[in-house]
Amino acid sequence: MTRVATPGDDVRVAFVGAGPGEADLITIRGAQRLQDADVVLFDSLADPALRELAPRARWIDVGKRGFSGVPHAARGGRENTGQDTINALLVKHALSGVNVVRLKGGDPSVFGRLEEELEALAAAGIECEVVPGVTAALAAAAATKRPLTRRGAGRSVALTTAMMKTGELAAGRHADTESFYMGGKQLAALSRRLVAAGWPASTPAIVVSRAGWPDQIASEHVVVTLGDATVLHSGRPTIVTVGVGAAAVQGERTSTSATAPMPLAEKATPTP
Ligand code: SAH
Repeated sequence: MTRVATPGDDVRVAFVGAGPGEADLITIRGAQRLQDADVVLFDSLADPALRELAPRARWIDVGKRGFSGVPHAARGGRENTGQDTINALLVKHALSGVNVVRLKGGDPSVFGRLEEELEALAAAGIECEVVPGVTAALAAAAATKRPLTRRGAGRSVALTTAMMKTGELAAGRHADTESFYMGGKQLAALSRRLVAAGWPASTPAIVVSRAGWPDQIASEHVVVTLGDATVLHSGRPTIVTVGVGAAAVQGERTSTSATAPMPLAEKATPTP
């Protein structure tokens, strides 16, 4: 058996899951790592309010969008940071002997490019730890009060990206409940792919954008009408949950139309 390393005094780099939205969704351990940080490398999903947890640290924005990590779009007047640059920054700051936090939206282990960054540290012989966070699929389930697993009927959950490395959309059927990341821009196409993958047209589907933020929006559909959600969630990070875990629980207040935004808690009502 291989022993998996546990954090010790020489650990200088912590990958920290910031959670999906507002700053208070970070874990207490994550907040402590921020407090001890000298340098924080963060990306665009993190709530700016997190900065208050590490006021003395140097905050470096390494936000990037897209799969390749290749700088391909100007954002706020500058290019996005490529993955190689992020890896190099991590190693550089860690070797300088300061405490580094690599803050990632949601959970670092879920579509967070953690693998590349762990490999870069390993290659440089640098110890690190990973502090988990609330991933977007879980925040979406919380927002809609629709449990991802259901006793008897929903025994498995898959976290799937709708995006292939090539930029193409893909969908399969891997579990009783499947949560799709990165499919928000192409909901109509996702709907067609889901049907082609064998999901019955009438399978419940929930779309939640900006889950965990005060302006989160959720809407309910069936697989074949997913495209109706396009405008409502346009331009927002979006999770699509399909299958058993997208169904209403008994006695839930339901919306009048299948494509209408779902009633959410008072705090979560979308602002106009
Ligand atoms: N590591 C992150 C996922 C990063 S991939 C996590 O664990 O959540 C980025 C994708 O995550 C987005 O395209 C979107 O599909 C999803 N996402 C991130 N934050 C979200 C949020 N607050 N609400 C809905 N989807 C979100």
